[in-house]
Amino acid sequence: MEAFPPEFLKRMRELLGAQYAPFLQAMKGEAVVSVRLNPQKGAHPPAGATPVPWCEGAYFLPERPDFVFDPLFHAGAYYVQEAASMLLNQMLELQPGMNLLDVCAAPGGKSTLLAGRMQAGSLLVANEVIQTRAGILAENLSRWGNPNCIVTQNDPANFGVLSGFFDLILVDAPCSGEGMFRKETASRGQWSLQQVQHCALRQKRILADVMPALAPGGQLIYSTCTFSQEENEHIIVWLLEEFGHELELDPVLGLEEYGAMPVTVAGVASAAYSCYPHAFRGEGFFICRLRKKGAFEPEKAILPASKKKKRNNKPSPVRAPGSREFLQRYIAPGEWHTELKGDHLFVLPKALSRFPTEGFRRLKTGILAGKPHRKGINPHHELALSTCIRQDVPALELSEAQALKYLKREPLEISSPPANGWILARYQGINLGWLKAVQGRLKNHFPTNWRIRKSIAGL
Ligand code: SAM
Repeated sequence: MEAFPPEFLKRMRELLGAQYAPFLQAMKGEAVVSVRLNPQKGAHPPAGATPVPWCEGAYFLPERPDFVFDPLFHAGAYYVQEAASMLLNQMLELQPGMNLLDVCAAPGGKSTLLAGRMQAGSLLVANEVIQTRAGILAENLSRWGNPNCIVTQNDPANFGVLSGFFDLILVDAPCSGEGMFRKETASRGQWSLQQVQHCALRQKRILADVMPALAPGGQLIYSTCTFSQEENEHIIVWLLEEFGHELELDPVLGLEEYGAMPVTVAGVASAAYSCYPHAFRGEGFFICRLRKKGAFEPEKAILPASKKKKRNNKPSPVRAPGSREFLQRYIAPGEWHTELKGDHLFVLPKALSRFPTEGFRRLKTGILAGKPHRKGINPHHELALSTCIRQDVPALELSEAQALKYLKREPLEISSPPANGWILARYQGINLGWLKAVQGRLKNHFPTNWRIRKSIAGL
Protein backbone atom coordinates (compact mmCIF):
# COMPACT_ATOMS: atom_id res chain seq x y z
CA MET A 1 0.00 0.00 0.00
CA GLU A 2 1.29 3.48 -0.93
CA ALA A 3 2.28 5.64 2.05
CA PHE A 4 0.75 9.10 2.48
CA PRO A 5 2.99 11.75 0.90
CA PRO A 6 4.96 13.46 3.75
CA GLU A 7 4.25 16.93 2.37
CA PHE A 8 0.52 16.15 2.35
CA LEU A 9 0.68 15.06 6.01
CA LYS A 10 2.59 18.20 6.96
CA ARG A 11 -0.04 20.39 5.31
CA MET A 12 -2.89 18.49 6.99
CA ARG A 13 -1.22 18.85 10.40
CA GLU A 14 -1.01 22.61 9.87
CA LEU A 15 -4.60 22.76 8.66
CA LEU A 16 -6.22 20.61 11.34
CA GLY A 17 -4.16 21.25 14.48
CA ALA A 18 -5.63 19.18 17.32
CA GLN A 19 -7.89 17.35 14.85
CA TYR A 20 -4.90 15.98 12.96
CA ALA A 21 -4.43 12.81 15.06
CA PRO A 22 -8.06 11.59 14.77
CA PHE A 23 -8.00 12.56 11.06
CA LEU A 24 -4.90 10.47 10.39
CA GLN A 25 -6.33 7.56 12.33
CA ALA A 26 -9.53 7.69 10.23
CA MET A 27 -7.53 7.96 7.00
CA LYS A 28 -5.78 4.71 7.87
CA GLY A 29 -9.10 2.93 8.37
CA GLU A 30 -11.62 1.39 5.99
CA ALA A 31 -13.51 3.44 3.41
CA VAL A 32 -17.27 3.67 3.86
CA VAL A 33 -19.50 1.85 1.34
CA SER A 34 -22.79 3.37 0.27
CA VAL A 35 -25.38 3.15 -2.49
CA ARG A 36 -28.16 5.42 -3.69
CA LEU A 37 -31.36 3.83 -4.99
CA ASN A 38 -32.90 4.88 -8.27
CA PRO A 39 -36.18 6.53 -7.23
CA GLN A 40 -37.72 5.67 -10.62
CA LYS A 41 -37.06 1.93 -10.35
CA GLY A 42 -38.43 1.02 -6.95
CA ALA A 43 -35.69 -1.24 -5.55
CA HIS A 44 -35.71 -2.03 -1.83
CA PRO A 45 -32.83 -1.13 0.51
CA PRO A 46 -30.24 -3.94 0.68
CA ALA A 47 -30.27 -6.24 3.73
CA GLY A 48 -28.38 -4.80 6.70
CA ALA A 49 -28.22 -1.32 5.16
CA THR A 50 -28.71 1.86 7.19
CA PRO A 51 -29.96 5.19 5.77
CA VAL A 52 -27.60 7.99 4.78
CA PRO A 53 -29.23 10.86 6.70
CA TRP A 54 -28.39 13.58 4.16
CA CYS A 55 -29.78 11.82 1.08
CA GLU A 56 -33.17 10.17 0.76
CA GLY A 57 -33.00 6.70 -0.73
CA ALA A 58 -29.29 6.27 0.05
CA TYR A 59 -27.84 3.62 2.36
CA PHE A 60 -24.61 2.63 4.04
CA LEU A 61 -23.72 -1.01 3.54
CA PRO A 62 -22.10 -3.05 6.31
CA GLU A 63 -19.41 -4.25 3.88
CA ARG A 64 -18.45 -3.98 0.23
CA PRO A 65 -20.11 -6.74 -1.82
CA ASP A 66 -18.97 -7.65 -5.34
CA PHE A 67 -21.53 -5.45 -7.10
CA VAL A 68 -20.81 -7.17 -10.43
CA PHE A 69 -22.69 -10.20 -9.15
CA ASP A 70 -25.80 -8.28 -8.15
CA PRO A 71 -28.34 -8.24 -11.02
CA LEU A 72 -29.91 -5.06 -9.61
CA PHE A 73 -26.63 -3.21 -10.16
CA HIS A 74 -26.86 -4.03 -13.90
CA ALA A 75 -30.50 -2.97 -13.92
CA GLY A 76 -29.64 0.56 -12.75
CA ALA A 77 -31.69 0.00 -9.60
CA TYR A 78 -28.99 1.80 -7.59
CA TYR A 79 -25.67 3.58 -8.01
CA VAL A 80 -22.65 2.87 -5.82
CA GLN A 81 -21.73 6.34 -4.63
CA GLU A 82 -19.40 7.65 -2.00
CA ALA A 83 -21.59 9.07 0.80
CA ALA A 84 -19.99 12.52 1.11
CA SER A 85 -20.72 13.18 -2.58
CA MET A 86 -24.37 12.74 -1.75
CA LEU A 87 -24.25 16.05 0.17
CA LEU A 88 -25.03 17.46 -3.27
CA ASN A 89 -28.59 16.38 -2.51
CA GLN A 90 -28.75 19.06 0.21
CA MET A 91 -27.65 21.80 -2.19
CA LEU A 92 -30.36 21.40 -4.81
CA GLU A 93 -33.24 23.80 -5.26
CA LEU A 94 -35.12 22.31 -8.14
CA GLN A 95 -38.25 23.32 -10.01
CA PRO A 96 -39.99 21.84 -13.04
CA GLY A 97 -38.62 22.70 -16.46
CA MET A 98 -35.04 23.47 -15.43
CA ASN A 99 -31.91 23.05 -17.53
CA LEU A 100 -29.10 21.39 -15.57
CA LEU A 101 -25.45 20.96 -16.55
CA ASP A 102 -23.01 18.56 -14.91
CA VAL A 103 -19.88 19.68 -16.70
CA CYS A 104 -17.33 17.22 -15.22
CA ALA A 105 -19.66 14.26 -15.05
CA ALA A 106 -17.88 10.91 -15.54
CA PRO A 107 -18.46 8.30 -14.30
CA GLY A 108 -21.88 9.71 -13.44
CA GLY A 109 -22.42 9.54 -9.68
CA LYS A 110 -23.68 13.10 -9.40
CA SER A 111 -25.43 13.02 -12.78
CA THR A 112 -27.54 10.06 -11.66
CA LEU A 113 -28.31 11.93 -8.43
CA LEU A 114 -29.42 14.96 -10.46
CA ALA A 115 -31.39 12.78 -12.89
CA GLY A 116 -33.14 11.12 -9.96
CA ARG A 117 -34.07 14.44 -8.36
CA MET A 118 -34.85 16.73 -11.32
CA GLN A 119 -38.48 17.61 -11.81
CA ALA A 120 -40.89 17.23 -14.72
CA GLY A 121 -39.86 18.82 -17.99
CA SER A 122 -36.23 19.28 -16.90
CA LEU A 123 -33.16 18.59 -18.99
CA LEU A 124 -29.83 17.27 -17.72
CA VAL A 125 -26.74 17.69 -19.87
CA ALA A 126 -24.04 15.41 -18.48
CA ASN A 127 -20.68 16.28 -20.00
CA GLU A 128 -17.27 14.65 -19.85
CA VAL A 129 -14.36 16.07 -21.82
CA ILE A 130 -12.10 13.00 -21.59
CA GLN A 131 -13.11 10.60 -24.34
CA THR A 132 -12.05 7.44 -22.51
CA ARG A 133 -14.28 8.38 -19.55
CA ALA A 134 -17.29 9.69 -21.49
CA GLY A 135 -18.39 6.20 -22.58
CA ILE A 136 -18.90 4.95 -19.04
CA LEU A 137 -20.89 8.10 -18.25
CA ALA A 138 -23.26 7.37 -21.14
CA GLU A 139 -23.49 3.74 -20.04
CA ASN A 140 -24.34 4.66 -16.45
CA LEU A 141 -27.02 7.09 -17.57
CA SER A 142 -28.46 4.47 -19.92
CA ARG A 143 -28.71 2.11 -16.95
CA TRP A 144 -30.29 4.83 -14.83
CA GLY A 145 -32.98 5.10 -17.50
CA ASN A 146 -34.15 8.71 -17.25
CA PRO A 147 -35.02 9.85 -20.81
CA ASN A 148 -34.48 13.58 -20.08
CA CYS A 149 -30.70 13.37 -20.35
CA ILE A 150 -28.14 14.25 -23.00
CA VAL A 151 -24.53 13.08 -22.68
CA THR A 152 -21.91 15.23 -24.39
CA GLN A 153 -18.17 15.03 -24.77
CA ASN A 154 -17.04 18.64 -24.96
CA ASP A 155 -14.55 21.03 -23.49
CA PRO A 156 -16.24 23.18 -20.80
CA ALA A 157 -15.37 26.23 -22.97
CA ASN A 158 -17.91 25.05 -25.55
CA PHE A 159 -20.76 25.71 -23.11
CA GLY A 160 -19.93 29.41 -22.85
CA VAL A 161 -21.94 30.13 -26.01
CA LEU A 162 -25.18 29.02 -24.32
CA SER A 163 -25.67 32.37 -22.69
CA GLY A 164 -27.86 32.09 -19.58
CA PHE A 165 -29.16 28.65 -20.58
CA PHE A 166 -28.59 26.60 -17.44
CA ASP A 167 -30.52 27.04 -14.19
CA LEU A 168 -28.03 24.86 -12.36
CA ILE A 169 -24.41 24.12 -13.17
CA LEU A 170 -22.45 21.58 -11.20
CA VAL A 171 -18.66 21.78 -11.42
CA ASP A 172 -17.45 18.65 -9.64
CA ALA A 173 -13.94 19.56 -10.56
CA PRO A 174 -10.96 17.34 -11.37
CA CYS A 175 -8.76 17.77 -8.29
CA SER A 176 -5.75 16.39 -6.44
CA GLY A 177 -8.06 13.77 -4.87
CA GLU A 178 -6.70 13.86 -1.32
CA GLY A 179 -10.14 12.91 -0.02
CA MET A 180 -9.88 9.59 -1.87
CA PHE A 181 -6.54 8.56 -0.33
CA ARG A 182 -8.33 6.13 1.99
CA LYS A 183 -10.51 4.53 -0.69
CA GLU A 184 -8.01 4.54 -3.56
CA THR A 185 -4.67 4.05 -1.87
CA ALA A 186 -2.76 3.99 -5.18
CA SER A 187 -3.72 7.64 -5.78
CA ARG A 188 -1.46 8.70 -2.87
CA GLY A 189 1.56 8.13 -5.11
CA GLN A 190 0.32 10.60 -7.73
CA TRP A 191 0.03 13.55 -5.33
CA SER A 192 2.39 16.52 -5.42
CA LEU A 193 2.27 20.18 -4.54
CA GLN A 194 2.64 21.00 -8.24
CA GLN A 195 -0.39 18.85 -8.96
CA VAL A 196 -2.43 20.83 -6.40
CA GLN A 197 -1.39 24.05 -8.11
CA HIS A 198 -2.06 22.66 -11.56
CA CYS A 199 -5.53 21.50 -10.47
CA ALA A 200 -6.32 24.93 -9.00
CA LEU A 201 -5.53 26.61 -12.34
CA ARG A 202 -7.67 24.08 -14.20
CA GLN A 203 -10.56 24.56 -11.75
CA LYS A 204 -10.49 28.32 -12.34
CA ARG A 205 -10.48 27.78 -16.09
CA ILE A 206 -13.47 25.42 -15.99
CA LEU A 207 -15.47 27.79 -13.79
CA ALA A 208 -14.67 30.82 -15.96
CA ASP A 209 -15.62 28.81 -19.07
CA VAL A 210 -19.10 27.87 -17.86
CA MET A 211 -20.02 31.11 -16.08
CA PRO A 212 -21.67 32.72 -19.14
CA ALA A 213 -23.99 29.71 -19.46
CA LEU A 214 -25.50 30.21 -15.98
CA ALA A 215 -28.94 31.82 -16.00
CA PRO A 216 -29.80 34.77 -13.76
CA GLY A 217 -30.91 33.31 -10.45
CA GLY A 218 -29.17 30.06 -11.42
CA GLN A 219 -27.26 27.87 -8.96
CA LEU A 220 -23.56 27.16 -9.37
CA ILE A 221 -22.42 24.24 -7.25
CA TYR A 222 -18.70 23.68 -6.91
CA SER A 223 -17.26 20.55 -5.34
CA THR A 224 -14.01 18.62 -5.07
CA CYS A 225 -12.87 15.48 -3.31
CA THR A 226 -9.80 17.11 -1.84
CA PHE A 227 -8.82 18.93 1.36
CA SER A 228 -6.41 21.47 -0.11
CA GLN A 229 -7.59 25.02 0.45
CA GLU A 230 -6.00 26.10 -2.85
CA GLU A 231 -8.59 23.96 -4.65
CA ASN A 232 -11.48 24.72 -2.32
CA GLU A 233 -12.12 27.97 -0.46
CA HIS A 234 -9.36 29.82 -2.36
CA ILE A 235 -11.15 28.97 -5.61
CA ILE A 236 -14.40 30.38 -4.24
CA VAL A 237 -12.62 33.55 -3.10
CA TRP A 238 -11.13 33.86 -6.60
CA LEU A 239 -14.58 33.30 -8.17
CA LEU A 240 -16.03 36.12 -6.07
CA GLU A 241 -13.14 38.41 -7.01
CA GLU A 242 -13.56 37.67 -10.70
CA PHE A 243 -17.33 37.40 -10.95
CA GLY A 244 -18.57 39.12 -7.77
CA HIS A 245 -20.53 41.63 -9.86
CA GLU A 246 -22.81 38.79 -11.01
CA LEU A 247 -22.25 35.97 -8.54
CA GLU A 248 -22.85 35.63 -4.79
CA LEU A 249 -22.49 32.98 -2.15
CA ASP A 250 -25.73 31.12 -1.44
CA PRO A 251 -25.10 29.26 1.81
CA VAL A 252 -27.00 26.11 2.69
CA LEU A 253 -27.21 26.11 6.47
CA GLY A 254 -27.24 23.25 8.93
CA LEU A 255 -25.08 20.57 7.31
CA GLU A 256 -22.86 20.41 10.40
CA GLU A 257 -25.70 18.29 11.82
CA TYR A 258 -24.29 15.49 9.63
CA GLY A 259 -20.67 16.06 10.63
CA ALA A 260 -19.71 18.31 7.70
CA MET A 261 -17.40 21.14 8.79
CA PRO A 262 -18.72 24.63 7.94
CA VAL A 263 -16.19 26.78 6.10
CA THR A 264 -16.18 30.57 6.23
CA VAL A 265 -15.51 32.09 2.82
CA ALA A 266 -14.98 35.82 2.27
CA GLY A 267 -16.31 36.49 5.78
CA VAL A 268 -19.53 34.50 5.22
CA ALA A 269 -20.02 31.70 7.76
CA SER A 270 -21.14 28.26 6.51
CA ALA A 271 -20.64 29.38 2.91
CA ALA A 272 -19.18 25.95 2.14
CA TYR A 273 -18.54 22.61 3.84
CA SER A 274 -15.55 20.33 4.11
CA CYS A 275 -15.96 16.69 5.05
CA TYR A 276 -13.20 14.96 7.02
CA PRO A 277 -13.42 11.22 7.58
CA HIS A 278 -12.89 11.44 11.36
CA ALA A 279 -15.97 13.65 11.75
CA PHE A 280 -18.14 12.63 8.81
CA ARG A 281 -19.21 9.16 7.66
CA GLY A 282 -17.68 9.34 4.20
CA GLU A 283 -14.53 10.28 2.31
CA GLY A 284 -13.01 13.76 1.96
CA PHE A 285 -15.20 16.27 0.15
CA PHE A 286 -15.76 20.01 -0.27
CA ILE A 287 -18.94 21.65 -1.55
CA CYS A 288 -20.17 25.21 -1.97
CA ARG A 289 -23.24 26.78 -3.58
CA LEU A 290 -23.27 30.15 -5.30
CA ARG A 291 -25.98 31.93 -7.22
CA LYS A 292 -25.99 34.25 -10.19
CA LYS A 293 -27.61 37.53 -9.31
CA GLY A 294 -30.97 38.31 -10.91
CA ALA A 295 -34.36 36.70 -10.84
CA PHE A 296 -34.96 33.13 -11.94
CA GLU A 297 -36.98 33.19 -15.17
CA PRO A 298 -37.47 29.75 -16.70
CA GLU A 299 -38.62 31.19 -20.06
CA LYS A 300 -35.33 33.03 -20.50
CA ALA A 301 -33.48 29.77 -20.20
CA ILE A 302 -34.79 28.60 -23.54
CA LEU A 303 -32.50 29.51 -26.41
CA PRO A 304 -34.14 31.72 -29.01
CA ALA A 305 -32.38 29.69 -31.72
CA SER A 306 -33.90 26.42 -30.57
CA LYS A 307 -37.36 28.08 -30.31
CA LYS A 308 -37.05 28.91 -33.99
CA LYS A 309 -35.84 25.43 -34.76
CA LYS A 310 -38.74 23.93 -32.84
CA ARG A 311 -41.22 25.53 -35.22
CA ASN A 312 -39.43 24.45 -38.39
CA ASN A 313 -38.25 21.19 -37.07
CA LYS A 314 -41.39 19.28 -36.18
CA PRO A 315 -40.45 15.65 -35.60
CA SER A 316 -41.17 13.73 -38.74
CA PRO A 317 -43.44 10.71 -38.27
CA VAL A 318 -41.54 7.48 -37.94
CA ARG A 319 -42.12 5.52 -41.13
CA ALA A 320 -40.18 2.36 -40.47
CA PRO A 321 -42.23 -0.81 -41.01
CA GLY A 322 -44.15 -1.71 -37.87
CA SER A 323 -43.31 1.55 -36.14
CA ARG A 324 -46.86 2.38 -35.04
CA GLU A 325 -47.26 -1.06 -33.53
CA PHE A 326 -43.83 -0.81 -31.88
CA LEU A 327 -44.63 2.52 -30.24
CA GLN A 328 -48.00 1.31 -29.00
CA ARG A 329 -46.57 -1.87 -27.62
CA TYR A 330 -43.44 -0.53 -25.90
CA ILE A 331 -43.52 3.20 -25.20
CA ALA A 332 -45.54 4.56 -22.27
CA PRO A 333 -47.56 7.70 -22.96
CA GLY A 334 -45.60 10.81 -21.95
CA GLU A 335 -44.21 14.21 -22.93
CA TRP A 336 -41.99 12.81 -25.63
CA HIS A 337 -41.95 12.09 -29.31
CA THR A 338 -40.19 9.42 -31.30
CA GLU A 339 -37.77 10.13 -34.08
CA LEU A 340 -35.90 8.03 -36.58
CA LYS A 341 -32.30 9.19 -36.94
CA GLY A 342 -30.17 7.18 -39.32
CA ASP A 343 -31.13 3.63 -38.59
CA HIS A 344 -32.11 4.17 -34.96
CA LEU A 345 -35.40 5.05 -33.35
CA PHE A 346 -35.22 7.45 -30.38
CA VAL A 347 -37.63 8.49 -27.67
CA LEU A 348 -37.04 12.21 -27.15
CA PRO A 349 -38.71 14.12 -24.32
CA LYS A 350 -39.81 17.64 -25.21
CA ALA A 351 -37.24 19.16 -22.84
CA LEU A 352 -34.39 17.87 -25.01
CA SER A 353 -35.35 20.11 -27.91
CA ARG A 354 -34.21 23.12 -25.82
CA PHE A 355 -30.59 22.06 -26.30
CA PRO A 356 -28.97 23.13 -29.58
CA THR A 357 -28.75 20.53 -32.30
CA GLU A 358 -25.26 21.64 -33.34
CA GLY A 359 -21.94 22.50 -31.72
CA PHE A 360 -21.80 19.62 -29.24
CA ARG A 361 -20.54 16.07 -29.56
CA ARG A 362 -23.44 13.99 -28.28
CA LEU A 363 -22.93 10.43 -27.04
CA LYS A 364 -26.50 9.91 -25.91
CA THR A 365 -29.75 11.75 -26.47
CA GLY A 366 -32.95 10.61 -24.80
CA ILE A 367 -33.56 6.89 -25.13
CA LEU A 368 -32.36 4.74 -28.01
CA ALA A 369 -35.53 2.67 -28.35
CA GLY A 370 -35.06 0.40 -31.33
CA LYS A 371 -33.38 -0.50 -34.55
CA PRO A 372 -35.63 -0.84 -37.59
CA HIS A 373 -34.99 -3.68 -40.03
CA ARG A 374 -36.78 -4.99 -43.11
CA LYS A 375 -39.64 -6.61 -41.24
CA GLY A 376 -40.05 -4.42 -38.18
CA ILE A 377 -38.16 -2.88 -35.27
CA ASN A 378 -35.98 -4.64 -32.72
CA PRO A 379 -36.23 -3.06 -29.27
CA HIS A 380 -32.93 -1.74 -27.93
CA HIS A 381 -31.34 -2.55 -24.57
CA GLU A 382 -31.56 1.11 -23.52
CA LEU A 383 -35.33 0.97 -23.86
CA ALA A 384 -35.54 -2.04 -21.53
CA LEU A 385 -33.70 -0.07 -18.83
CA SER A 386 -35.55 3.18 -19.40
CA THR A 387 -38.41 4.61 -17.43
CA CYS A 388 -40.38 5.34 -20.63
CA ILE A 389 -41.06 1.67 -21.35
CA ARG A 390 -44.60 0.43 -20.80
CA GLN A 391 -45.21 -1.58 -17.67
CA ASP A 392 -47.31 -4.19 -19.49
CA VAL A 393 -44.62 -5.42 -21.90
CA PRO A 394 -44.42 -9.24 -21.58
CA ALA A 395 -41.80 -10.12 -18.99
CA LEU A 396 -40.16 -13.12 -17.41
CA GLU A 397 -39.15 -12.94 -13.74
CA LEU A 398 -35.78 -14.64 -13.25
CA SER A 399 -34.24 -16.21 -10.17
CA GLU A 400 -30.87 -14.83 -9.05
CA ALA A 401 -29.01 -17.71 -10.73
CA GLN A 402 -30.97 -17.24 -13.97
CA ALA A 403 -30.43 -13.47 -13.87
CA LEU A 404 -26.66 -13.94 -13.53
CA LYS A 405 -26.68 -16.38 -16.45
CA TYR A 406 -28.63 -13.84 -18.44
CA LEU A 407 -26.12 -11.11 -17.57
CA LYS A 408 -23.29 -13.40 -18.68
CA ARG A 409 -25.17 -13.70 -21.98
CA GLU A 410 -25.55 -17.43 -21.59
CA PRO A 411 -28.57 -19.34 -22.90
CA LEU A 412 -31.48 -19.68 -20.49
CA GLU A 413 -33.49 -22.84 -20.16
CA ILE A 414 -36.91 -22.62 -18.60
CA SER A 415 -39.58 -25.31 -18.28
CA SER A 416 -42.41 -23.50 -20.08
CA PRO A 417 -41.09 -20.96 -22.59
CA PRO A 418 -43.46 -18.09 -23.43
CA ALA A 419 -45.08 -17.40 -26.81
CA ASN A 420 -42.85 -16.17 -29.64
CA GLY A 421 -41.70 -12.55 -29.42
CA TRP A 422 -39.70 -10.03 -27.40
CA ILE A 423 -39.79 -10.47 -23.63
CA LEU A 424 -38.24 -8.47 -20.83
CA ALA A 425 -35.90 -10.33 -18.50
CA ARG A 426 -36.69 -9.11 -14.98
CA TYR A 427 -35.17 -9.58 -11.56
CA GLN A 428 -37.12 -8.61 -8.46
CA GLY A 429 -39.56 -6.81 -10.75
CA ILE A 430 -36.85 -4.63 -12.37
CA ASN A 431 -35.93 -4.89 -16.04
CA LEU A 432 -32.54 -6.33 -16.98
CA GLY A 433 -32.82 -6.44 -20.78
CA TRP A 434 -34.37 -8.38 -23.66
CA LEU A 435 -34.96 -12.01 -24.43
CA LYS A 436 -36.53 -13.28 -27.61
CA ALA A 437 -38.68 -16.40 -27.58
CA VAL A 438 -38.46 -18.33 -30.83
CA GLN A 439 -40.21 -21.70 -31.10
CA GLY A 440 -39.75 -22.77 -27.52
CA ARG A 441 -36.23 -21.38 -27.16
CA LEU A 442 -35.09 -18.19 -25.49
CA LYS A 443 -32.46 -16.09 -27.23
CA ASN A 444 -30.38 -13.92 -24.91
CA HIS A 445 -30.11 -10.32 -26.19
CA PHE A 446 -28.07 -8.82 -23.35
CA PRO A 447 -25.42 -6.56 -25.00
CA THR A 448 -22.17 -8.40 -25.56
CA ASN A 449 -20.00 -5.49 -24.41
CA TRP A 450 -21.91 -5.14 -21.13
CA ARG A 451 -21.92 -8.79 -20.18
CA ILE A 452 -20.37 -10.09 -16.94
CA ARG A 453 -17.00 -11.55 -17.82
CA LYS A 454 -15.96 -12.68 -14.34
CA SER A 455 -16.65 -16.32 -13.55
CA ILE A 456 -19.31 -16.94 -10.95
CA ALA A 457 -18.86 -19.67 -8.35
CA GLY A 458 -21.55 -22.34 -8.71
CA LEU A 459 -22.71 -21.29 -12.18
N1 SAM B 1 -18.92 14.09 -11.15
C1 SAM B 1 -18.33 12.77 -11.27
C2 SAM B 1 -19.13 11.78 -10.45
O1 SAM B 1 -19.74 12.19 -9.45
O2 SAM B 1 -19.18 10.60 -10.81
C3 SAM B 1 -16.88 12.77 -10.90
C4 SAM B 1 -16.09 13.80 -11.65
S1 SAM B 1 -14.38 13.79 -11.36
C5 SAM B 1 -14.25 14.48 -9.81
C6 SAM B 1 -13.84 15.04 -12.40
C7 SAM B 1 -14.02 14.80 -13.88
O3 SAM B 1 -13.49 15.91 -14.60
C8 SAM B 1 -13.30 13.57 -14.40
O4 SAM B 1 -14.20 12.72 -15.04
C9 SAM B 1 -12.28 14.14 -15.37
O5 SAM B 1 -12.08 13.31 -16.49
C10 SAM B 1 -12.90 15.43 -15.77
N2 SAM B 1 -11.90 16.41 -16.29
C11 SAM B 1 -10.56 16.27 -16.37
N3 SAM B 1 -10.01 17.36 -16.93
C12 SAM B 1 -11.01 18.20 -17.21
C13 SAM B 1 -11.08 19.48 -17.83
N4 SAM B 1 -9.99 20.11 -18.23
N5 SAM B 1 -12.28 20.03 -17.98
C14 SAM B 1 -13.39 19.40 -17.55
N6 SAM B 1 -13.39 18.19 -16.96
C15 SAM B 1 -12.22 17.60 -16.81
